[in-house]
Amino acid sequence: MRKQLKHFINGEWVESTGSTIIDVINPATEEVIGQISDGTREDLDKAVAAARAAFPSFSQTTKEERIELLNRIADEYEKRKDDLVEVITQELGSPLPMSERTHYSMGLAHFRQAAKELETFEFNEKRPNNTVVRKEPIGVSGLITPWNFPTNQTSTKLASAFAAGCTVILKPSELTPFAAIILAEVFQAAGLPKGVFNLVNGTGEVVGNGISSHPDIDLVSFTGSGAVGQKITENAAKTIKKVALELGGKSPLVVLDDFDMKKAAQIAVTNVVFNSGQVCTAATRTLVPKSKHDEFIEAVKAVLPNYRVGDPQDGTNFLGPLISEQQYERVQGYIEKGIEEGATIVEGGTGKPEGMEKGYYVKPTVFTNVKNDMVIAQEEIFGPVMSVITYENIDEAIEIANDTIYGLAGYVVGEDQETVQKVANSIRAGRIIVNGASGDFSAPFGGYKQSGIGREWGDYGIEEYLEVKSVVGISS
Ligand code: NAD
Repeated sequence: MRKQLKHFINGEWVESTGSTIIDVINPATEEVIGQISDGTREDLDKAVAAARAAFPSFSQTTKEERIELLNRIADEYEKRKDDLVEVITQELGSPLPMSERTHYSMGLAHFRQAAKELETFEFNEKRPNNTVVRKEPIGVSGLITPWNFPTNQTSTKLASAFAAGCTVILKPSELTPFAAIILAEVFQAAGLPKGVFNLVNGTGEVVGNGISSHPDIDLVSFTGSGAVGQKITENAAKTIKKVALELGGKSPLVVLDDFDMKKAAQIAVTNVVFNSGQVCTAATRTLVPKSKHDEFIEAVKAVLPNYRVGDPQDGTNFLGPLISEQQYERVQGYIEKGIEEGATIVEGGTGKPEGMEKGYYVKPTVFTNVKNDMVIAQEEIFGPVMSVITYENIDEAIEIANDTIYGLAGYVVGEDQETVQKVANSIRAGRIIVNGASGDFSAPFGGYKQSGIGREWGDYGIEEYLEVKSVVGISS
């Protein structure tokens, strides 16, 4: 049983001022695997005071010092690989190979990438007329993260904030807090100056709302649902705080008619069922040329059995359970809704996969005959549910792709470069992935429309934590 009832404030683990305890559940077994404290406003105030006190000196560190620091953090992070992989598998239910290859690796990549970006990052720019434009750390940053990528989302924010010279308070999801607790130990081992990183565990209601409304916090960076993003923005408005939001998505994957349908099916399925569909960039709307529909569906049926659902401790499984009972019910509700709306189930459906009574497992589900105005095509399901929609021509495909309130990602698979380019350029989203390309940690990540405000990753991620100052009339 894991237990960390303290918060990490000003370089040490301190008792919570509250007495409420939150149980952490393993979604594969439904058993309690750990406990954390539900932080209070007083705990948060202490953390903010520590971050504020540490800011004047940390903000003055040189870029070279911060490069060294980020690489030391990455080195210490690497030493905790086994612990991180184990904890992510337990608290998220991600199968072991994904916990290592994706979750652990993404966390590491952000620290290394931030160090690399800093090497060429310019904090001062000389302009004509004796003007210098300086980029300065924005100040104390409040970071609020969800459960679906416990190391990726924390690390991208932390790496960028440290690279910029900001001090932080992190509130990770109460569903997956232990990966962040290991991160605190990593920072301690790396010799991060006290007060630069503070961790307060707890709920959105108390610690989350506390961060977004705190008068001594200068920026809130949030990843999570649109509803909470809205609440954060409202709270932050009262003290004119800068807000960065990474929210949901309903991303289209456009299959062009010249692409191999077997390859298309594999890319499409992978990008829907990965992490049990709990991915904000999941390609949940698959747009297929009408003439290729039957061939595509047959190819999907053929590849789907390769994506096995089961115990995350068994490395041959591709999908673990969903994070919680609530998420299970939510996904069931959407599958029922799809049936009710008249979409056709190709594979999967409601209920648990056969023989899997314990754990929040769902069947990977493919719907076809989906119309883009159906609820299952418009709302983020956050489960392994694909909606296949047909189109007659490229212009219609683009129109359907953009007919959404979201704009986080878009996918296109095709051979003809001109058409691929046209689709990529026309989708109004922050990241377009062509022919199943893998990630690029230097490229900005973030959404258009209701998918968010701002960008993370790489140099754009660092910019998020900076203020811009013009010094006019300086002679040097
Ligand atoms: P959530 O919004 O419920 O919770 C996210 C975090 O916010 C948690 O730490 C939670 O405790 C906290 N929170 C809850 N209420 C709060 C409040 N009033 N004030 C401040 N903080 C509060 O989201 P979730 O269920 O953890 O994650 C799933 C959602 O996140 C999905 O909608 C998904 O699309 C989105 N998401 C987006 C991205 C992205 O990068 N765009 C990445 C992952 C997840």
